[in-house]
Amino acid sequence: MFEHLKDLPADKIIALMAEYRADPRDNKVDLGVGVYKDASGNTPVMRAVKKAEKQLWEAETTKTYTALAGDPAFGRALSGLVLGDAVEEDLLALAAQPGGTGAIHQALELIQMATPEATVWLSAPTWPNHPSIIRHLGMKMTEYRYFDNETRAVDFAGMMEDLQKVKAGDVVLLHGACHNPTGANLTLPQWDEVATLLETKAAVPLIDIAYQGFGDGLEADAAGTRLVAARLPETLIAASCSKNFGLYRERTGLLMAVAPNAKSKALTQATLAHLNRQNFSFPPDHGARLVQMILDDPELRADWAAELEEVRTGMLGLRTRLADALRARTGSDRFGFIAEHRGMFSRLGATPEQVAYMRDKHAIYMVGDSRMNIAGLNENTIDLLADAIVDAGV
Ligand code: PMP
Repeated sequence: MFEHLKDLPADKIIALMAEYRADPRDNKVDLGVGVYKDASGNTPVMRAVKKAEKQLWEAETTKTYTALAGDPAFGRALSGLVLGDAVEEDLLALAAQPGGTGAIHQALELIQMATPEATVWLSAPTWPNHPSIIRHLGMKMTEYRYFDNETRAVDFAGMMEDLQKVKAGDVVLLHGACHNPTGANLTLPQWDEVATLLETKAAVPLIDIAYQGFGDGLEADAAGTRLVAARLPETLIAASCSKNFGLYRERTGLLMAVAPNAKSKALTQATLAHLNRQNFSFPPDHGARLVQMILDDPELRADWAAELEEVRTGMLGLRTRLADALRARTGSDRFGFIAEHRGMFSRLGATPEQVAYMRDKHAIYMVGDSRMNIAGLNENTIDLLADAIVDAGV
């Protein structure tokens, strides 16, 4: 049987990680994989997570199953963080998922059950796992313009023009904040225009929010998602706790479905529980419980928010310093976009050849499309990167 399997395209980011590890050069810089790193290159367990784990270890008396859709207290806590009071509780169906990836996958399965003919619209570019999962599920997809390679900002006119072609029932995937891989984001007035367009078209937004708190702050980063969720009759939101709680390997995420009325919410909730049952039965609980404990305890929550804010402002500082270093070297402001972008990533706009040159000559590893993980930089490597960018002729 196994001989019938076909070779699959290798995940480029995972392949790049292996190449980086095998590189013997001391001065190598890893701007590849999408994991937050502090100035010493570590991905720490957050203080509040450690404290919650200690409390949990002492207090937990059973590991028996929770509920199919996960512990409702986790759903309430995380949906509160993402949505604030934008959506009434009796319109919100929730199901805990193994990570943001699980939530996206489950959202797509729900769409497939409800409207198998729907086309999913993806930003060009997007996180490569989006089209990969959609292809795996055998769903239809197409792209809308998003990133302007010249300005390295959002091509909003192009995006709106393309989204004019969306049909009723189609799904438009949007990044809630900190767009991956570009770092270019919609402004709130632009979110408003997108919401109006989707409303007019009777399309369904699917919002992937994996970096809340990494851009302009916890509230600001959720503002677009809240605006859409409050306005549209139906919205799907996939949230990840991998980055903002540093819970990567614990696989902690939540799928939220905003329904138009209580009856529809009940049907959607039952379907989400059914999908969990088919796919993995009960969702992982450890990370979800930590998130719920942190969010529901004022002291833990304040400590978590403070540490997240340090992470966010640290990355903003690196952005500003890199943009300054490039301004000093080029005498121009054409790399100013690096300071304008938000989140962990920026798409530099280098060619694949320039990316390969920077890797071969300067030991700087970024993804082939020139996505750089800003958190991979530190005070010592900013100048190395700025020199490499100039030397590669970007
Ligand atoms: N969406 C985007 C845009 C991401 O970048 C990621 C993580 N790389 C995810 C979702 C999902 O992350 P996870 O499954 O680890 O929670």
